[in-house]
Amino acid sequence: MYTGRTEKPCCLCGNPETAHRIDIPPRAVQLLKHSGPIAWRDIEGEASLHFCESDWGTVRELVLKTGMSPLSRCNAGRASFVLREDFEALLNDTRAEPDQRPLERKLRQEAEEIIERYEDGDQMVENRDLIEARIVTWALEDLGADEVAADD
Ligand SMILES: [Zn+2]
Repeated sequence: MYTGRTEKPCCLCGNPETAHRIDIPPRAVQLLKHSGPIAWRDIEGEASLHFCESDWGTVRELVLKTGMSPLSRCNAGRASFVLREDFEALLNDTRAEPDQRPLERKLRQEAEEIIERYEDGDQMVENRDLIEARIVTWALEDLGADEVAADD
């Protein structure tokens, strides 16, 4: 049965009250804790991570002050995304493995643009956007700069 995206708790502590969300490319789900059983290639659209107010403070420190990605501390089981099978159930149809490349390209470009604006001294860049941009670019660097190959 198609259940859609359910609201997920804080991916760090499990608190159901979340205050912030970031979106990451499906490929970056591999970098999360306990991501082993997740068929990330079947994820449709981006994956989202939610954080409670208090853990968002930790994430901000980690990313903006320490220069480290929080992804390896985030529980993949608390990430929010839609799998291909859910769509198939909805549409009553078999779909091909989603092509994640255009989305990954878009997320990468947006992230690079935000970092560039920030480095140029643009005061309008939101902390939240900068944090997301850093996490996305680090993740893609970690995974190898190349986009997912079609026959990967
Ligand atoms: Zn939390």
